[in-house]
Amino acid sequence: MASIGIAGGGIIGCAIAATLAARGHAVTLFEPDLAGLPASAGNAGILAVPEVDPIARPDMLTQVPRWLIDPLGPLTLRWRDLAALTPWLTAFLRSASPARAAATRAALLGLMRRVEADHEALSALAGMTDPLRATGALTLFDRDAGLETAFRHESKTARELGFTLERLGPSEVRARIPALDGRFAGGIVSSGYKTFRHPTTFLRALQTHVGRTATMVDEAVTAVRPEARAVALVSGDGASHRFDKVVIAAGVWSRSLVRGLGLRVLLETERGYNTTYATPPFELAMPIFFADHGFVASPFEGALRIGGAVELARPEAPPNFARARAMRTKMRRYVSALPEEGGIEWMGRRPSTPDSLPVISLSPTDPRIAFAFGHGHLGLTLSATTGRLIADLLDGNDPETARGMAPFSLNRFQHG
Ligand SMILES: Cc1cc2nc3c(=O)[nH]c(=O)nc-3n(C[C@H](O)[C@H](O)[C@H](O)COP(=O)(O)OP(=O)(O)OC[C@H]3O[C@@H](n4cnc5c(N)ncnc54)[C@H](O)[C@@H]3O)c2cc1C
Repeated sequence: MASIGIAGGGIIGCAIAATLAARGHAVTLFEPDLAGLPASAGNAGILAVPEVDPIARPDMLTQVPRWLIDPLGPLTLRWRDLAALTPWLTAFLRSASPARAAATRAALLGLMRRVEADHEALSALAGMTDPLRATGALTLFDRDAGLETAFRHESKTARELGFTLERLGPSEVRARIPALDGRFAGGIVSSGYKTFRHPTTFLRALQTHVGRTATMVDEAVTAVRPEARAVALVSGDGASHRFDKVVIAAGVWSRSLVRGLGLRVLLETERGYNTTYATPPFELAMPIFFADHGFVASPFEGALRIGGAVELARPEAPPNFARARAMRTKMRRYVSALPEEGGIEWMGRRPSTPDSLPVISLSPTDPRIAFAFGHGHLGLTLSATTGRLIADLLDGNDPETARGMAPFSLNRFQHG
């Protein structure tokens, strides 16, 4: 059994800590803001198993110019951050070739096949009962053509992953979700999605479990220092903490720790916005994705959350909550009962790689150091699977795992 230090107590760091502690390792987790609301708390709360297509893909590129014209649309770029974002954007465009998008899809399909079993195992070891509800999800379309194309594509994914789809006209949609009283062409209900009872509650329950099974340190990690007999994590107060092995799982903030090790990484934030209503003004039986507008309405236990969108910007840039407002305004076209005011606005940072694949990897220069970040739009979905895979990589007793992990290696950023 090893002593293992982990930087980052978001959903990824906590899933890894819980898994490693359950295997008998002596785990120490560094998190400077345990009560904070990172992406892991404020997300849309959806177990999005069907989402195996990368963001960078040929059909997406044709839509980008139209989206970028609308400053409050589904995809925006903070133009004054363009210079800082250029290396990431260049790699993003390169990743959008048909061959690379297909390779990414195949890699994500491989992960998604294990997601549900991994979440069941994680919930069981953390003593959580049923954090997920089998809601399915509705994707709503403004035009028949979009519905037709999406249905054809989703049917392929449904066959590959073994879930079902229903194609519904407007009146069938309204029969399922009476609150939808606006105009739309129809929708697709997919059984492949599940919804967390509440993503913040899920994160807090996992953090509490980690607090019982690991040592928590209320400090940021400022540097990783490999030594002959140990790997030291330097904390914000200047102390050096020595471990047999370490994991960097600090969301977008992982990048400075990785770069401090002399390694290259392309990691930026796709920032998202939402509004949460503590007293849901109407019932939704399932999340609704608004396909033409890039946002989603998620029903939680005792809350309704409306948000999404992608804003490419430096992590520390000030938030622009007009984006949260724009999504509420758009949603009112479909659900007139949505109140104008009364919700709590939030901005969060998806830690994103240009090819939409997370980094789940041992360091190419030191196998005592593991990396787990860059989960983009899918961190909640992939958290339990990442926990298992990082534990397998660090335990080093499963060559099959190591062989299958090439697409997720940090190596892919070292040449270029
Ligand atoms: C609007 C929105 C909606 C989303 N919806 C979904 C969804 O429905 N389903 C889904 O699967 N995913 C969703 N995501 C994505 C998901 O939330 C993220 O991928 C995931 O939360 C990333 O988790 P993380 O632990 O890597 O990072 P984070 O949640 O960012 O956590 C990183 C943690 O590291 C800590 N930290 C920072 N610096 C240091 C340091 N130096 N040392 C130690 N600790 C440090 C931070 O305080 C933070 O707690 C959504 C994201 C957004 C923004």
